[in-house]
Amino acid sequence: MQSSDVKHRMIDGVVAVRNSFAWREANRHYRDSNDNSQARQRKSMATIGYLTTTLFDFGAIKSLKNEVDALGIRRPLLVTDPGVEAAGIVAKVLAQLDGVAVTVFAKTPANPTEEAVIEGVASYRRGNCDGVIALGGGSPIDLAKGVALAATHAEPLETYAAIRNGVGKITASVAPVIAIPTTAGTGSEVGRGALINLSNGSKLALISPHLIPKRAICDPELTLGLPPVLTAATGVDALTHCIETYLSPLVNPPAEAIALDGAYRAWHFIKRATENGSDREARWEMMMAALEGGMTFQKGLGAVHSLSHAAGALRQPTLHHGMLNGVFLPHILRFNADSVGKKYDKLREVFGLDAKADLAAAVSDLIKSLGLPLTLGQMGFEEKHIAETVKRALADHSNATTPRKASAEEFEALLRAAL
Ligand SMILES: [Zn+2]
Repeated sequence: MQSSDVKHRMIDGVVAVRNSFAWREANRHYRDSNDNSQARQRKSMATIGYLTTTLFDFGAIKSLKNEVDALGIRRPLLVTDPGVEAAGIVAKVLAQLDGVAVTVFAKTPANPTEEAVIEGVASYRRGNCDGVIALGGGSPIDLAKGVALAATHAEPLETYAAIRNGVGKITASVAPVIAIPTTAGTGSEVGRGALINLSNGSKLALISPHLIPKRAICDPELTLGLPPVLTAATGVDALTHCIETYLSPLVNPPAEAIALDGAYRAWHFIKRATENGSDREARWEMMMAALEGGMTFQKGLGAVHSLSHAAGALRQPTLHHGMLNGVFLPHILRFNADSVGKKYDKLREVFGLDAKADLAAAVSDLIKSLGLPLTLGQMGFEEKHIAETVKRALADHSNATTPRKASAEEFEALLRAAL
């Protein structure tokens, strides 16, 4: 490690956190977990895996060249989108790669598509590339994972979709990915999944430990210029990841501790980051919350994401994933209330709420204070979209880990209540 890197916080398997809520609460949380009715029903073996080496701090981007070299990448494909390029962030990254033959693919659409994966693979081949650098929000990072897979696996993309039993078909030959997030939200920089819209209109999840980026370079400096509405919406996505993975019934206490720590940071810093984008402390905390949300994906999400994925798959209107989560989260918290043991007590404590406070109402208040919509109607979603959204929500992979499974009728009622 060069001296310039010494100050970077290295996270490899163990999370080194400042003001660590997780540490402070560890003993009490352990006791509460053992009281928890979910935990008492333990029947399945725990599967716990932390794989991505993460470099985290202001200026972390300066270590990019070292990491490219360490992974033996000689000719990377840089996958990004036009917004990131226009913001000057691509130029900042390329400046770190002096002397490296980089091919730039800056055509990631708002939601990654199979067509874009095919185009990206063509660029990968033209540049004779041997690795991928993903730069941007969730879409470029997901697209980069799709390209890293499709460039090294022969079958059509759909073959590898989780819902088509494709998880086991994804092998270690996936091209190495270095992820550099420019928003604090998706956590895709350490996630094992990628959501891609296929040419046939369906939205499918590619899920495999081999899709987890080999490195995540989290530099809060890159988020300083993010506008308030995107800061709020992506931040709510991070908060939702932490809450939903915490509530998932899968057995994974380390992931739960990380989820609570991330929820604490997101809850206490999202407003500051939204109101003052140049608040460096708040930007650092939100990026850590997003990273921690991503580290807990292995526990699985829940019905908020089933609904957000479903409504987000509409061609028209195009709805923002984080905003959708903000609308659905209070409704699902009410829906799940009797299926989560004592976990809401813990969340109230983490958020600094009164022991008897209405958790769902407190979440609504936060969403409102951020200036985000509280109803689907405010976002342009209409009654005519309900049937299609229910169908998609029922088929979503997040239902597998939700604390209370919703029927078609219940999803419909939830959507009507959120309308
Ligand atoms: Zn999400």
